[in-house]
Amino acid sequence: MNTEKRVIENGAVAVQKGKIVAVGTASEIARKFLAGQTINAQNKVIVPGLVNTHTHIPMSLFRGISDDLDLQEWLTKYIFPAEAKNVTEDFVRVGTKLGLAEMIRGGTTTFCDMYYFEDAVAEETSKAGVRGVLGETIIDFPVPDNKTNGEAMAYAEKFINKWKNDALIVPALAPHAPYTVSTEHLNAIRRLSDKLNAAVVIHVAETQKEVADISKQYGSRPVAYLSKIGFLNNRTIAAHVVFADDEELNVLKKLGVGVAHNPQSNMKLASGVAPVPQMLLKDLPVGLGTDGAASNNDLNMWEEMDTAAKLHKVFSGDPKVVNAEQAFEMATIRGARALHLEKLIGSIETGKRADIAIVDFDDLHQTPYYNVYSSLVYATKASDVRTVVINGRVVMLDRRLLTLDENDIKKSANAYRRKIITSLSK
Ligand SMILES: [Zn+2]
Repeated sequence: MNTEKRVIENGAVAVQKGKIVAVGTASEIARKFLAGQTINAQNKVIVPGLVNTHTHIPMSLFRGISDDLDLQEWLTKYIFPAEAKNVTEDFVRVGTKLGLAEMIRGGTTTFCDMYYFEDAVAEETSKAGVRGVLGETIIDFPVPDNKTNGEAMAYAEKFINKWKNDALIVPALAPHAPYTVSTEHLNAIRRLSDKLNAAVVIHVAETQKEVADISKQYGSRPVAYLSKIGFLNNRTIAAHVVFADDEELNVLKKLGVGVAHNPQSNMKLASGVAPVPQMLLKDLPVGLGTDGAASNNDLNMWEEMDTAAKLHKVFSGDPKVVNAEQAFEMATIRGARALHLEKLIGSIETGKRADIAIVDFDDLHQTPYYNVYSSLVYATKASDVRTVVINGRVVMLDRRLLTLDENDIKKSANAYRRKIITSLSK
């Protein structure tokens, strides 16, 4: 995923102190380096760790709680009430560990999150050795961790100051959406992000209803409205952007806004189809995201790649839009650009952090193999990921998680299942 899209046969990667120090053929690397630890990746593919640009990781505990509804009904009848009754700091920790384990298994090394008690998400993510852009949610009604906007802003500032120099965690502000946060509060969030030089994660133009409501209330469509109030810049990460016209896409490009495209979540909630082929033509920094497990229902980036490539073909009637290579790029280097982290991650290049996945490439469903991108995007499954390295640390070796206890995670998640069912029947 370097600028030349170089693929090295019989390649090797040398890693030192969390960084990639050399990339070349196995014989070149073996001549130059004597390694303390060697991982044999023969007959496998070494790829950049996948970048999940949008999720709500603790919502893993709501996986399958209610399906087959549109966003408004799903959110207001099921998700917001279930959250009000169940979300505590412990819930967030258990859900985060469940999501982290699932993501590591699937080769995801960086994720962008937006939830409550984000400090607990950060602690669990850091312990598990995973990289995250983690945004504390700010929304104009009382939520599990903060009851007022003042409390939420104070929490977010403290959270950002605590984590801003961490090697893995990029702390961020996460106003929920233009339809759940007032202009005044969005402006205050933008000012705080300027003061702290912090990223801002927000849902934008996810549904037609949002476009209609925002247009009615503010006289402009969501992207145009956010641009008009001066909210958008090159630290913003906008999730969805399903509804944006050509002019709005130009605005996003000019301001350097990152976009998170969530094809499966948008399909499941019947939100619509984001103009991704147009975004790619304009070279926008657009990455792929799973969204929360409650609207997907997994955190599998391999499915997002496959779905993104196919959804835009059927929607446009043109099989040439979003090819396999472009889909893989959105899950890696373009996703890194969407999170404004392209200098650190997203490709296997000297000087970047060592975020790497080693993928089995010889299972039945991958045989025979002609083209590496075709095989990765259209045939490979999350379960083909064998080994995962993040910031130079091996977090999964030969499918064994080294930083998380899978049995313990399942036990605590199932205990929450019983609790959640009881809470909803009351
Ligand atoms: Zn979301």
